[in-house]
Amino acid sequence: MNFAWATRTDVGRVRDHNEDSVWPTTDGSTAEMLAVAVADGMGGHAGGEVASATALDTAMTVSGEPTMRILAANLAVVDAARQRPRLTGMGTTLTLALLDPDGDLDIGHVGDSRAYLLRDGTLQQLTRDHSYVADLIAAGKLTPEEAESHPYRSVLTRAVGLDPTVEVDSYGLILQFGDRILLCSDGLTSMVSDGPLSEILDRQGSPPAMTADALVTAANDAGGIDNITVVIIDVAE
Ligand code: MG
Repeated sequence: MNFAWATRTDVGRVRDHNEDSVWPTTDGSTAEMLAVAVADGMGGHAGGEVASATALDTAMTVSGEPTMRILAANLAVVDAARQRPRLTGMGTTLTLALLDPDGDLDIGHVGDSRAYLLRDGTLQQLTRDHSYVADLIAAGKLTPEEAESHPYRSVLTRAVGLDPTVEVDSYGLILQFGDRILLCSDGLTSMVSDGPLSEILDRQGSPPAMTADALVTAANDAGGIDNITVVIIDVAE
């Protein structure tokens, strides 16, 4: 199994700095184990950038399963905040995927960045947001459409770096040839709903780099109110 990937991170059209981080930072392809991740930081005094960059630096330096990497990242962000009191309260989402050429996909996840699978033309969200509105939707108290304009739509119920302990969700999947995986920050999904998202991802013959560019363009065309980060991975023989 081979993986071809592209990553993009874009400041958007409203914010003056980019608090998202992405890994890898260059496009490529491999027949070996591939690690990819998206982190969306939050916090004043540059805390957002520091939190997301610290989390990814740590998660991609340590070895092991996604959950172990996210727990290490969590401690690193907590430590960084202790050393720089101005950054107290900084945190980040972290969605991390390991793709094994033998076909195993393992995902670790905290926050509201997302992982999706496009298989045979059908888009499936693999992760569940750790957010106030996601809890309301799960409880049947809010529809996904209502959540899109809810005043608390960006309030997280879990984040990396706020506390020395954090609960990490994990997801597993057996990959198939032709699968396309998307990891993204909420700057994409708050601007581009599942219909157009699926349409862009499913354009035949569109390589990861072209699709990643198209997703960033779509989010910016819709307003670009937040930083936009995407990772696309295609699974080939
Ligand atoms: Mg965001």
